[in-house]
Amino acid sequence: MAIVIDGKALAAKVKDEVRHEVLTLPRRPGLAVVLVGEDPASQVYVRGKESDCAQCGIESFGYRLPADTPEEELLALVRRLNEDQRVDGILVQLPLPAPLNEKVVIDTISPDKDVDCFHPFNVGQLHIGQARFAPCTPAGVMEMLRAYDIPVRGKRCVVLGRSNIVGKPMAVLLTQADGTVTTCHSRTEDLAEITRQADILVSAIGRAHFITADMVKEGAVVIDVAMNRNESGKLCGDVEYDEVFPKASYITPVPGGVGPMTRAILMRNILTAARSHLE
Ligand code: NAP
Repeated sequence: MAIVIDGKALAAKVKDEVRHEVLTLPRRPGLAVVLVGEDPASQVYVRGKESDCAQCGIESFGYRLPADTPEEELLALVRRLNEDQRVDGILVQLPLPAPLNEKVVIDTISPDKDVDCFHPFNVGQLHIGQARFAPCTPAGVMEMLRAYDIPVRGKRCVVLGRSNIVGKPMAVLLTQADGTVTTCHSRTEDLAEITRQADILVSAIGRAHFITADMVKEGAVVIDVAMNRNESGKLCGDVEYDEVFPKASYITPVPGGVGPMTRAILMRNILTAARSHLE
């Protein structure tokens, strides 16, 4: 029977620590949140991040732009925010509506204010073990493992997914924590054979019901990063929770697992940015 990793409670603790640290600063940290278009999921995410900021004593500056905003206008806003002394972090909510080019926009954010850790400079720093900002979702997972005293050193870790936002940085952090890491993706052969070897299985694919009990080793730690909607529109992960739960030693629920931790690490990154701007 698995122990359920309570991401919500852990995230509340992290945000509380950030709130206390913020009180020691000579000014409030600031986050600029840029939302282009009307995507309902993005609107929910942005509102969540703004509410986290309010809880942590971080000022948020919202910029809502229409979906047909010309790229040059968006880039001009990002450049202005790069220079704005009140703004410590800049978050451009992804995905951007077509034909806006996400890469160009991310590259325009000053690496000093790239609190999502998406800029190529920060990604490079992460890969050489010198990250100034933590990649929010993978760092949230690592924080969960630490909080529950789950050892990574020497363990077989299998990461499903190789995206720039989740899979790749997840594999980097697990490797840096001395895990032995295998990354799987849509071209992986004999996937279940590999997942069955995992002491720590992190799934970030984005397909409901994908991880079934026969793919999981008895006693494995199962971390479900995904946020999918099932047939009845309910939020769920990649893991078939009810059947994997009795087999795992630890498991994260969806919702209430990795999602809240991602947001809490973002708050910590804004604090880190503010501290460096105040030096
Ligand atoms: P993504 O960019 O779509 O990447 C999905 C990855 O899964 C790709 O690497 C893909 O392989 C792989 N994949 C797809 N089908 C597969 C299959 N049948 N077998 C093995 N691998 C397969 O997605 P993402 O941005 O990484 O996000 C992944 C999930 O995490 C989504 O559900 C997303 O909503 C969720 N998410 C959650 C949080 C959070 O805070 N909890 C944060 C970010 C994302 P290829 O590379 O070969 O295409």
